[in-house]
Amino acid sequence: MRVVLSGAAGFIGCHLAKRYLDDGHQVIGVDNYRTGSRDNIAWLSRSGAFEFLEHDITRPLKVPGAVDLVADLACPASPVDFGPLGVEILRVCSEGVWNVLELARAKGAVFLQTSTSEVYGDPEVHPQSEDYWGHVNPIGARSVYDEGKRYAEALITAYHRRHKLPVRIARIFNTFGPRMRLDDGRVVTNFIRQALAGEDLTVYGDGSQTRSFCYIDDQVEGLVRLAAADYCGPVNIGNPDEIPVRRLAEEILELTGSSSKIVEKPLPADDPKVRRPDISLAKKLLGWQPRVSRTEGLKRTIDFCREVLPRD
Ligand code: UDP
Repeated sequence: MRVVLSGAAGFIGCHLAKRYLDDGHQVIGVDNYRTGSRDNIAWLSRSGAFEFLEHDITRPLKVPGAVDLVADLACPASPVDFGPLGVEILRVCSEGVWNVLELARAKGAVFLQTSTSEVYGDPEVHPQSEDYWGHVNPIGARSVYDEGKRYAEALITAYHRRHKLPVRIARIFNTFGPRMRLDDGRVVTNFIRQALAGEDLTVYGDGSQTRSFCYIDDQVEGLVRLAAADYCGPVNIGNPDEIPVRRLAEEILELTGSSSKIVEKPLPADDPKVRRPDISLAKKLLGWQPRVSRTEGLKRTIDFCREVLPRD
């Protein structure tokens, strides 16, 4: 296949691109480096089958030649980006998605969108299955991302209905692993960084809020299977192993052997209280379920952080 992959410099984007390259496909990575890393592109560029286009997808995207799959992973995704990059997030989820959809339509390619568990907002149904419509504050602190991704799902579905475009929508739940951006404020990297530096681990609120963390290799396997499936509705891709944030802090202290303390900081506005995917659909449709335990995934992520963080 010839794959166009936007967001190739980002965490999940670079891993998905690497997987397609390893499977013998050609990948044209697209990124504007707004939150992605040049190091991830350098990693992919070791393969002769990788090409890179520095481009902002809110502008029309032209790619010569045949394309079989357009995979859209371009969007700042960390809660710390929601304030400073709010308008950029809304633009990439609207004009950006529109441009990559147009590319897929022009090429007769399959279109894969990475949507998010954030479409469920602060959920009143637990666990979340794809038929739950969500509980989102349209003007809240997270709304740029939640509503942006909801709009993108609506646009993609409208393209499917009007143009018969074969679309795939993955609703991704908290994913972690090597090559995460270490300074993007996410809980896994914050806690690991803090534990390794001997600093206090900052639990927001009382830490009773839950998340369900999926290791990157499992996430990529789910995305690859979904892209190849003949199903145009949303599919949850995540690990249902749910954990309170405070317990995650304790696990990271145990795994790093750190003697850092846990301290409480104010809970950000609209922080979802619970989150766990119902993955029955992915199991049935894709024969997929996560294989890597949180402990194993955390160990690999800690090793990565030890390698890349400056010593002393
Ligand atoms: N969190 C925390 N300490 C941190 C960073 C995050 O307690 O240093 C909490 C955050 O409030 C949320 C959860 O951890 O409840 C997951 O946050 P993250 O930003 O990783 O992802 P989210 O699921 O909120 O998008």
